Amino acid sequence: MTRTQKKYDLYSFVARAALEKGEPFPLKCNCGGVVTIMPPFQDEYVVCPVCESKIRMLVIEGDPGYIIGRNSGGEPTLLPVQGSKKPHPDKLPIEEREAILTEIKAKLLKEKK
Ligand SMILES: [Zn+2]
Repeated sequence: MTRTQKKYDLYSFVARAALEKGEPFPLKCNCGGVVTIMPPFQDEYVVCPVCESKIRMLVIEGDPGYIIGRNSGGEPTLLPVQGSKKPHPDKLPIEEREAILTEIKAKLLKEKK
């Protein structure tokens, strides 16, 4: 293996509830490809059938729908949690998303002190 290898190409968040349910669920890759996760799931990563990215799955407790991340500019943003029964954060009404982000920013400001 001469190619320099990154261990994983992508990271994706997965709801633990989806893994515990024991039913297959789709994991979307950034390229638009979909990997079907078949339980029992034991590997820590999956490979996208389209772009061959290695996607590391980070399991989030429960079924949160989204988690708080940061975009490349360092601004808080909502990242989807896959396999969740909750709506994708992009599908939340804009006002609701703005309200969540405003709350997070306020919290972050407080924590900085
Ligand atoms: Zn892909």
